[in-house]
Amino acid sequence: MTRENIFKRYQVSFDSKTLQHIFTDTLIIGSGVAGLSAAIHAAKGGSVLVVTKTAINENCTEHAQGGIAAKLSRNDSFKRHIDDTLKTGQGICDDEIVSGVIREGPKRVKELISWGAKFDKENGKLVFTKEGGHSRPRILRARGDSTGKEVEETLINVVKRNPQIRVFEHTFALDLLVSKNTCDGIIAWRSREGKILIWAKQTILASGGCGQVYRETTNPEMTTGDGIAMAYRAGVKLQDLEFVQFHPTTLYVAGAERVLISETVRGEGGVLRNKYGELFMSKYHPGAELAPRDIVSRSIVHEIRRTDHTHVYLDVRHISKEKLRTRFPKIKKLCASFGINITRQLIPVHPSAHYMIGGVKVDQNGRTSMKNLYACGEVSCTGLHGANRLGSNSLLEGLVFGYRTGSMAGMELGVKKEDLPPRSFEEPSKSYSYSELDLEDLKNSLKSLMWRSVGIEREGKHLKEAIRNIKHWSKYIISNEFSSPLGWEIQNMLTVSLLISSAAFMRCETRGVHYRLDHPGTDDKHWKKHIIVYNGKYGFVR
Ligand SMILES: Cc1cc2nc3c(=O)[nH]c(=O)nc-3n(C[C@H](O)[C@H](O)[C@H](O)COP(=O)(O)OP(=O)(O)OC[C@H]3O[C@@H](n4cnc5c(N)ncnc54)[C@H](O)[C@@H]3O)c2cc1C
Repeated sequence: MTRENIFKRYQVSFDSKTLQHIFTDTLIIGSGVAGLSAAIHAAKGGSVLVVTKTAINENCTEHAQGGIAAKLSRNDSFKRHIDDTLKTGQGICDDEIVSGVIREGPKRVKELISWGAKFDKENGKLVFTKEGGHSRPRILRARGDSTGKEVEETLINVVKRNPQIRVFEHTFALDLLVSKNTCDGIIAWRSREGKILIWAKQTILASGGCGQVYRETTNPEMTTGDGIAMAYRAGVKLQDLEFVQFHPTTLYVAGAERVLISETVRGEGGVLRNKYGELFMSKYHPGAELAPRDIVSRSIVHEIRRTDHTHVYLDVRHISKEKLRTRFPKIKKLCASFGINITRQLIPVHPSAHYMIGGVKVDQNGRTSMKNLYACGEVSCTGLHGANRLGSNSLLEGLVFGYRTGSMAGMELGVKKEDLPPRSFEEPSKSYSYSELDLEDLKNSLKSLMWRSVGIEREGKHLKEAIRNIKHWSKYIISNEFSSPLGWEIQNMLTVSLLISSAAFMRCETRGVHYRLDHPGTDDKHWKKHIIVYNGKYGFVR
């Protein structure tokens, strides 16, 4: 099926002559670590408007637990952090990006500290934790296991104090306004005003990932891949969409949200046990519990299958009560709310979709393939993570690329002085003849399909079947016109799911987080390269 008969250019019909127009120098879509960092730096060059589809602090950043990886300890070195990142990325990281981000990281973390962020200290000194794949303890944390909250609150405080920055909460970005491969802003929707046009000299996509396309995910509800889908509809280049990272340990209690049990729990000595209470990780990898995430996730899946059970267990009973109380207050409280006393009982865990490694392809300054459009944070693909992300490198990437894109956008404003002429845009409405659609049912079916067929273990025949199903659903959902976020989000989820499945089907090898049962080996000769997609066309770059 070609792009034309599945994907529309715009999600909604509109006529620019009849809508409210809003103007800003820099527009930022998203208020997580990447978007707010970008806003602070872009504001040095002009006015900034941040739009975010829910409340300002409802995002993945707010949920991040473990911490930020940065070389700040004397016992660490840039080289070690770079080597760990490259090793985890399995041959397809961008070496220059890795080196640049890791060397710039400490500067950005210190800047955050200068803005008031408080990272945990012992005897007046920052403490560093170790996570899987890290050869040194280098993870900074805050409030024990609420690092993201500290980062987000710090950035919100800086943003709120800056008169150059406006924030529109509960504003859903629908589509990029584009003419001649140049981004002029977006069409958005607010519940009170309806559709509005926001014109911007520079637009920065910082809309996060797409974990919600999977039934089991650590990501909050808003993570529906809108930015990736929006960029795709506009013809922007995307890269590496087959690489979805699954976190090994999320709480597995029927009816409960799949809340993440941070990797730092294993970093502090937590061990995994199967249904029979046996330790099993050292059987799969010499790093045991601290092996890279993809290995731990797959080992858990094997063990679940081998023991014919639904989950495995995380055991922290041997860690002192005091340490559990101070290091993991959030996790302790959460488990207690389900009747699990972690000082005495095992924690049931299972892997879940966690992080989108691929996304909008950007250069070292966060520029996309479209003029006046930048991307940063999880929506982007910088090349830092390659085929697998080293834990705690994503908050770091959000800070560094938030800074870079914001600074670049701010600088560009100084160069281009001309005003924004609102262009005339029109997307005609179409009439549809579908009977009542049960969108929640469709959403659940899609999430189950993605989990079953495009999850931790993949196989050509199941991927093919998934693509066929998604295309079928897309035919009547994507061509339809909806008038509220649920419909738009499902359209975006279908788009992103199709892109993930298609890239996963194409990559006939196993690399990093992409595991093909029918192609279990890594094939450097044919596949040490990236899959790029735009305008319905696929290409490869080394
Ligand atoms: C439970 C959990 C724990 C994690 N722990 C860690 C950790 O310890 N260390 C680490 O480095 N990483 C961690 N990660 C990953 C990390 O948190 C994310 O990758 C990072 O926070 C992404 O930041 P972001 O700014 O790109 O996106 P987000 O923080 O997700 O923000 C995206 C923003 O975009 C907005 N948005 C999306 N679509 C639209 C739309 N259509 N219109 C308007 N606005 C829109 C959202 O409202 C939101 O404000 C964790 C992730 C999760 C889910």
